Amino acid sequence: HAKKLGKGQFQFYTESLNAEARDRLALDSALRRAVEQEELHVVYQPKVDARGRPFGFEALVRWESAEFGSVSPVRFIPLAEENGLIGQLTVFVLRTACREAARWRAAGHGHLRVAVNISPSLFREKDLAALVRAVLAEAGLPPENLELEITEGVLMGDVQRTLAVLNELKAMGVYIAVDDFGTGYSSLAYLKRFPIDILKVDRSFVLECDQGNGGLAITRAIVSLAHSLNLRVVAEGVEQQTQLAVLNALGCQEFQGYYFARPMPVEQIAAYLAGG
Ligand code: C2E
Ligand code: MG
Ligand code: MG
Ligand code: MG
Repeated sequence: HAKKLGKGQFQFYTESLNAEARDRLALDSALRRAVEQEELHVVYQPKVDARGRPFGFEALVRWESAEFGSVSPVRFIPLAEENGLIGQLTVFVLRTACREAARWRAAGHGHLRVAVNISPSLFREKDLAALVRAVLAEAGLPPENLELEITEGVLMGDVQRTLAVLNELKAMGVYIAVDDFGTGYSSLAYLKRFPIDILKVDRSFVLECDQGNGGLAITRAIVSLAHSLNLRVVAEGVEQQTQLAVLNALGCQEFQGYYFARPMPVEQIAAYLAGG
């Protein structure tokens, strides 16, 4: 495209690219420091049943950078995947979340499950099953209290390896959820092949499920698919009562979203569980 642009424009183009590359490099090294010095922290968003009672929490990583302010995981997770920090980052979140869930158990909330997001690259780079086993042992958390959220991308990678890892996790007793379900490009055949327990309806469909357009049709199809396959189904990103009403009518009984609760710092969980 450079040929089509005038000389001045081309120069502008390269300069802004350089600025972008510089920003990225700065963010990259700040993230490296943050991961190494554990400047990251974890917040927890409740998942609730049809009566609004929590049955679990999703662990979501947060980064308050001295240099960049609060940076969204939508921005730094992809960066961590590219620069090789995702392994260390995930170990931190997994450890923190399992330690926390062990505390909930000790406080009499043995039914609560903590969910941790696992990037596709973790399946390639690490012995994920061994890692999870070690973290659970260290935290003293039963596998049944842990859920791993994977995306459809995981299921499109090295199928044999992924299947072996997921089967090992399943045999341990860890729950497997497919996150952002319906947004990937993988074949539905994997739902039979992989040991999956839960589908999470992507927020983009839930957002439109009360608007009588494609969002409703897709949400209905996912809920019914989950039920026919004996999977549990969680609607993510529920913000409105009208969405909840539609989801209820469709037979979806598990929810996550701002309508119920936002992600919260660990200090607020005890009060939340006490009904405060
Ligand atoms: P996700 O796993 O699908 O997590 C749900 C995201 O939607 C979270 O954003 C959550 O705060 C947000 N959310 C929940 N309910 C609502 C709602 O009602 N309305 C709206 N507008 N948003 C809602 P967050 O924490 O910014 O995370 C974004 C994504 O970053 C996550 O999507 C996940 O893919 C990734 N992520 C976050 N933490 C981790 C982590 O520890 N490891 C990995 N690998 N990825 C993570
Ligand atoms: Mg998730
Ligand atoms: Mg999700
Ligand atoms: Mg999502």
